[in-house]
Amino acid sequence: MAVIDQIILLQDVDNKLFEINKLLGDLPKQVQELTDQEEFTKNSLSEKEENLKTTTVEIHTSETLIATTQEKVDMLKDKLIDGSISNNKEYDAMMETIDYEKNIIFEKENELLVLMQNKETLTKEIDEDKSALDGIIQELNSKKESLNKKVEDVSEEKNALTKERENIVLHVDEDTLHKYMEIYNARDGVACSEILDNNCEGCGAYIPPQIVNEALGKSIVYCGTCSRFLHKSEISEI
Ligand SMILES: [Zn+2]
Repeated sequence: MAVIDQIILLQDVDNKLFEINKLLGDLPKQVQELTDQEEFTKNSLSEKEENLKTTTVEIHTSETLIATTQEKVDMLKDKLIDGSISNNKEYDAMMETIDYEKNIIFEKENELLVLMQNKETLTKEIDEDKSALDGIIQELNSKKESLNKKVEDVSEEKNALTKERENIVLHVDEDTLHKYMEIYNARDGVACSEILDNNCEGCGAYIPPQIVNEALGKSIVYCGTCSRFLHKSEISEI
């Protein structure tokens, strides 16, 4: 096979590789975004569940404290009437202690009210989150699965093309390959151009008959204007 034909094959493989790299570039990002979304939703739920646990413990502690303080108050009240108090001073001191303990109960009951409201809100939110999460996770997983499959397929195709490219390059001398890469990079990935009606398809420049003939003879020739590899098939000539 003539070198120019190898160059045309190389251009074809490079076009495919370009498209694949473009596709691969976006897919892993999409998978990552879905994974992040799933993790965020799970974290938010477990945070609320942890919060609910703490609140439940705090409620229990408050309830216990209120109960024991109430017992204390009841005991002190009993002492007021069981004859263990002998004078007004002792009576006043006892009343003061009872008021102090009652105040603690009042404060704790207010705190308890807030905690109960928090617990109610959290329980409701967790229930809502849980029912939503099942759907979200299912959707995310199915999306991730199909994306991962695509990445796998595309990677397989990419490997095959890379191998094909390596084979083609074996048949092209180093200088020509270097020139190909130079034009490829300078001309946005289009290094080859067909001669159509004595014009370069890539830039429209007129190609002299002698160059057209050389192209027909499978020699390596370049467009004098855009520098691309020129080729012309005899079939299109007829
Ligand atoms: Zn040209």
